[in-house]
Amino acid sequence: MRFLLLAAAAIMLTIGSPILRAADVTPLKALPAIDPAAVLSHVKTLASDAFEGRAPGTPGEEKTVAYLVEAFKRLGLKPGNPDGTYVQKVPLVGITPAPSPLTITGGAASQASAGPMTLAWRDDVVAWTRRVTDEVKVDASELVFVGYGVQAPEYTWDDYKGVDVAGKTLVMLVNDPPVPDPAAPGALDAKTFGGRAMTYYGRWTYKYEIGAKHKAAAVLIVHETGPAGYPFAVVQGKTGEQFTFVTPGKNMDRAAIEGWITLDQAKALFARAGQDFDRLKAQAATRAFRPVPLGLTASMTIRNTLRRVDSQNVVARLEGSDPAARDEHVVFTAHWDHFGVGEPINGDRIYNGARDNATGTAALLEMARAFTQLPTAPRRSILFLSVTAEEQGLLGSEYYAAQPLYPLAKTLADINMDALNVTGRTKDLVVIGLGASQLDDYARDAAKEQGRTLKPDAEPEKGFYYRSDHFNFAKVGVPALNTDEGVDFVGRPASFGIEVRERYTNERYHKPSDEVTPDWDLSGLAEDVQLLFAVGYRVAQADTYPAWSPGNEFKAIRDAQLKGQ
Ligand SMILES: [Zn+2]
Repeated sequence: MRFLLLAAAAIMLTIGSPILRAADVTPLKALPAIDPAAVLSHVKTLASDAFEGRAPGTPGEEKTVAYLVEAFKRLGLKPGNPDGTYVQKVPLVGITPAPSPLTITGGAASQASAGPMTLAWRDDVVAWTRRVTDEVKVDASELVFVGYGVQAPEYTWDDYKGVDVAGKTLVMLVNDPPVPDPAAPGALDAKTFGGRAMTYYGRWTYKYEIGAKHKAAAVLIVHETGPAGYPFAVVQGKTGEQFTFVTPGKNMDRAAIEGWITLDQAKALFARAGQDFDRLKAQAATRAFRPVPLGLTASMTIRNTLRRVDSQNVVARLEGSDPAARDEHVVFTAHWDHFGVGEPINGDRIYNGARDNATGTAALLEMARAFTQLPTAPRRSILFLSVTAEEQGLLGSEYYAAQPLYPLAKTLADINMDALNVTGRTKDLVVIGLGASQLDDYARDAAKEQGRTLKPDAEPEKGFYYRSDHFNFAKVGVPALNTDEGVDFVGRPASFGIEVRERYTNERYHKPSDEVTPDWDLSGLAEDVQLLFAVGYRVAQADTYPAWSPGNEFKAIRDAQLKGQ
């Protein structure tokens, strides 16, 4: 029998299957089933008013963490933290900035004699620091325009060209460099920075990270509504307390100041430097672009009020059955946190977060139960990681990625669950960033066994791949899978999927009304989770690690990581 299975696998390989799946050919139907009633029962508890909306650092966190730890213990899972506990402490700090204006000096003689240029806080500039310290400042730091600020080896793109920008204040454009398609005027080159889709190089978070890597004193992004995807008013929402986690180095490796300036002020600033903003912007969309020193200096001081919040990731582990492979892990993630108690809407102050993300958290528990029902544990170990502070900027997962409990080079994949389907079965499943890695091939195989198909997300230009916890694994090289509910509901008209999505976004998303309602139908959720279970199980059994697709922006990091093993 064993020989026959191996032979069948060998045939699969020779006919060009993209992944080695020789180690396990258990059909999806033969795997332990996901029970929607068990998921609903967990959701009802986690999203009950007694859990107070599960905000980090509140009694709601204590109840949630205790519930999860208890559930994992009951299943007989091991502590996920090698220190023998089921938690990973996540030290968070809330930073409330009190900034000075941004002052620009220098420039053409006529303008310099008119005195410094002052950008007003909130109206012209929004800036903050992630350094955990009472005060940061940049003092007469030279301004350098670095185009889109991108270094992307897979596109042979480098906006720095070896120029030393340490201690300088970098001015950057938002989104990917818009490289035209030589074959189709007016369109973007799909082979460079994903065409219409946004790559991570386009996200504002990347811009600050690459600036820090180059030891810049400050990074200022020029806000443009189109490429950013939202108006400056959204940036102005970041003027209050922001959470960050505390690294051992207190985030001193970040640029002292991170922020945005308005397009109008950027144009004025370039004019003062004797430059034309639009002309330099056009140059920045080419590989030949080099950093442009603006001959101006920037000064700004930000005083901070700090508030410590100690939060926790919850983590349990199913030990692999193969002694030679049990130090290798497949990770499932789902954030447990939500917004807690806040501004009342229609008289309700508790942000229950039933769908976002009691569903994913409940599914994680049910997934863990299903794994314990396997006749033999998978060869590799499975980590069930419920992370904190997703709603504050993916902080719990970012912390895990920075302080992993097991080596990232031996972490095969992250499979994330966030805001699952509560409206019944679908014929399809959406994969955010479909095609990013071989995990999508596993997902496609499992979907096929369910008689379903995979679909890409409808709005790739919005960069949803970079907006949930799986992304923090991708960023450090670990292939990561994040799905969204299907759009083609069984027995419903074609328009139903969009209606469901819009109704949720408008009426319930991030509101106290995100509660369990009598019309919930978790049959579709159970199928989706069953599919993810099959993916995780098979990756944990496979002969090889899943790989990023050629050209993916995280492939180089992974290759270096695996080589360094
Ligand atoms: Zn969520």
